[in-house]
Amino acid sequence: MPEAWPKVPMMERARTQGGEMPTRKCFLCRRQFQFGPQTRAGMSVKAWDITVCNDCHSRQRGGIVPDLYPHLVEHLKTRGIAADYDDHGWIRWPLEKQVSS
Ligand SMILES: [Zn+2]
Repeated sequence: MPEAWPKVPMMERARTQGGEMPTRKCFLCRRQFQFGPQTRAGMSVKAWDITVCNDCHSRQRGGIVPDLYPHLVEHLKTRGIAADYDDHGWIRWPLEKQVSS
């Protein structure tokens, strides 16, 4: 342990240095959001193997407009995941996600 190491408890350091918070990248808007045990500004969509921020999720609650997020369509296609389209032609969130949120 180097001498210069700050003698501050773990909790204190996590609070003062926000940069240490674990973050994830939102697949839809490509923004970084906090994704730790205490702060979760988003969620993981395991069925699609992506993480999304709360903003995108609440904005797209009724379904994801494929025209706005063509990279999601590509992503699902490359992974062989069948997208579930509703009557509007929007992509439905996987059921599993609604349970975990
Ligand atoms: Zn987002």
